[in-house]
Amino acid sequence: MKLKLFGSSGVRGVVNADLTPILVTKIGLAITMLVKAKKVLVARDTRVSGQMLEDALVSGLLAGGANVSCVGVMPTPVLAYLTMKLKADAGVMITASHNPPQYNGIKIFDKDSISYGDEKQGKIEKIIERESFRFAEWQGIGNVSHANESGLYVETIAKAVELGKKWRVILDPGCGAAYSLAPAILKSLGCKLTAINSQPDGFFPARSPEPSAESLKSLANIVRESGADVGIAYDGDGDRVAFIDEKGVFVDFDRVLAAYAAYVLKRKQRGVVVTNVEASMRIEKMAEAQGGKVVRTRVGDVYVSEAIKQHKAVFGGEPCGAWIHPKIHYCPDGIFSSVMLLKALEDEGKRLSKFVAETPVYETLRKNIPCKNEAKYRIVDKVGEGIKAAFPEHMEYSAVDGVRLSLKNGWILVRASGTEPLIRITVEGESLKAAKEIMKKGVMLINKVVGKVGK
Ligand code: MG
Repeated sequence: MKLKLFGSSGVRGVVNADLTPILVTKIGLAITMLVKAKKVLVARDTRVSGQMLEDALVSGLLAGGANVSCVGVMPTPVLAYLTMKLKADAGVMITASHNPPQYNGIKIFDKDSISYGDEKQGKIEKIIERESFRFAEWQGIGNVSHANESGLYVETIAKAVELGKKWRVILDPGCGAAYSLAPAILKSLGCKLTAINSQPDGFFPARSPEPSAESLKSLANIVRESGADVGIAYDGDGDRVAFIDEKGVFVDFDRVLAAYAAYVLKRKQRGVVVTNVEASMRIEKMAEAQGGKVVRTRVGDVYVSEAIKQHKAVFGGEPCGAWIHPKIHYCPDGIFSSVMLLKALEDEGKRLSKFVAETPVYETLRKNIPCKNEAKYRIVDKVGEGIKAAFPEHMEYSAVDGVRLSLKNGWILVRASGTEPLIRITVEGESLKAAKEIMKKGVMLINKVVGKVGK
C-alpha cells in the first residue's frame, strides 16, 4: 500500500498510535537525505509527547549526519524565522497546531521559512516507504546543541513595529507554544498586559488549542468585565490568532482578515493580497476599494505562502486566523499578526469593533452531500463541467481547489471532503435571500450529477 503520511500541514496523528517515535526517527533520516542537510533546527510546542518525539527526530537527523540545534518550546513562526535567519538547511517543528492534546505532528520548513509543500513531502514519503535510508559513517554522525535563539525574533519585531498607545490587552496563549514569548513581546511594546493560560501545559486544561467563539468565551468575558481594549488568543503552536473586541465580542475571522488586508493595501497604496478559496468575498470588496488585487489558492497555509512569494504579495492569510507577513518571513505568525493589528488600529485611530464594522455584512451557508469516497472527486469534476451553464451570470471560474464560481451577488464552492465521504458546498451571498438561491441551484446541480454518476 502506498504511504500517505503528509497532509497540507505536514504529518499529524495520535501519538504512539499513528505517530510513533520510530516513524519520527525515519522522518528525521529522510530529511537529511532530501536536502543533504548539514544544519537543522528543531522546536516543539507544549504537548506532553513533544520531548519524546524531539528525541526520536534528533536521533534520525544525527544518524543522517546533520548537526542539530534544538531551540526548545517555541511557536512555529519563530522556528520558521530562525531557520531562515540562522541559515539552516531545514527547520522541523513538532506540533499538532490546534488539534486535541493526544495528537502531535511534524511540519518542515525550508531555508526561506516556507513549509514543505506536496512535492518535497512526497519525496520524504517515498524514502520512508522504500526504507531507502542512508546512514552516516560513524565519524560523520552529527552534533546536537541546545540554545534559545528567540532573542533574534524579538529584535526583528521590535525593529519592525513601534506602538504609541499603551494598549490594555488580555492575552490568552491557551497554554500553548506562545506562552512566554507573546507576553514578553507585547509588554516590551508598551502594552498593559494581563495574561491568562500562560503556563506551558500539554494537556491544554483551560481551553481547546483551537481558538473559536466557543473556546474563547472566558477570554471574552474577562475583556468585557475588565474594560480592556482587546483580547488576543493563539492556537497551540502560535501561528494563528483570534481577537476579542473592546465590547467582549469574538471577532469574525473573515471580517478582520478583510479589514487588515485593506489596511495593508492602503499603506502600500496597492498590491496583491492572497487568501484561499474558502475566504469571504469581503476581502475582494475591501481590497479592490484600495486598488488592490486578490489571488486565491487552495486551502492550506503553504499554498498561501507559495503564492505570496510568487506574486510578490504584500500580505496573505486564511480565515482561520493564519496571517502571513512577507516582510518578516513566510510562515503564518500569530504573535506578529496581533502586534500588527494593534498597529493598524493605532494608525487608523479606530477601536477594533469599528475597524471590522467597515467590512460588508454577507451571509454564508454550508451544506454537505453524502457521497462515496470513490466517487466524490469524479463528481466534483463533473460539477465543474456543468456549473457554468447552471449559473449563466457567473463572473469567474476557478478549479484551484474543487470548483469555485464567483457571481455578481455571491459565490459557490464545491469541494470533496479530504477525510469523509462527503461533498461540501459553501455559498456566500450579499443577502440571505441571494445565498439561499445560490445554494438551491448548487444542490440541484450536484444531486443531478450524483444521480448520474451514482452515490
Ligand atoms: Mg497552528
